[in-house]
Amino acid sequence: MKDLMPENGQFAMPKLGYDNLGEIISKETLSFHHGKHLKAYVDNLNKLLPGSGLEGLSLVEVVKKAEGGMFNNAGQVLNHAMYFEQFGNTPKPMSADFAASLKRDFGSVEAFKKEFEQKGATLFGSGWVWLSADKEGKLVITQQRNAENPVTLGLRPLLTFDVWEHAYYLDYQNRRADYLAALWQIVDWAIVEERL
Ligand code: MN
Repeated sequence: MKDLMPENGQFAMPKLGYDNLGEIISKETLSFHHGKHLKAYVDNLNKLLPGSGLEGLSLVEVVKKAEGGMFNNAGQVLNHAMYFEQFGNTPKPMSADFAASLKRDFGSVEAFKKEFEQKGATLFGSGWVWLSADKEGKLVITQQRNAENPVTLGLRPLLTFDVWEHAYYLDYQNRRADYLAALWQIVDWAIVEERL
C-alpha cells in the first residue's frame, strides 16, 4: 500500500510521474491541484509535525493517529499522493485477475465502474470515493468526506477519485459526473493492483 516516510521530520512533496494527462485533466488543473493545493497540505502538515508526538511515523500512521488540523492535512497528503500516483498518459490495462475480483464482488467490471462513479457523483460536498480491500480481501467502495481515508476504517485503499471541486472545476465546471466518467481513461491499473 502507498505510504511515505518523513526525512528529518518532514514529508517531501510527492512528485508527478507524468507532465500531462492529455485532455482528461488539463495542465492548468494539474498545476493548481498538485502545485498549489497539495503543496499547501504538505507545508501545513510539516508545520504541525514538530512537537506533535507523531514525528518519525509514516504518513499512514500519522493519518491513523492524528486529529483535527493535523488529521486534515495528513489525510489530504496521503489522499492526493495516491490520486496523482495512480494516473498516467500511457496507463497499463487491468489484469485478468483483478477484473475477476471486481466481477466476483460487483457482478462485472462495468457494474463496478458504474457504482464507483455513482458514489462519487452523489457524495455531498467535498470528499473522495474509494475502492479498497477489506481484511478478507473483498473489494468495497466507500464515500469518504473531506480528508478521510479508508485506512482509518481498517481497509486497504486501492483507487480513489477526488471529488473536491478543485479537482475538476477548471476543466468540467459543475459536471462532476463527466469528470468521473473520463478518469477511467488515465487509471494505471498496474499501480492500483500493486497496492493490493
Ligand atoms: Mn484535491
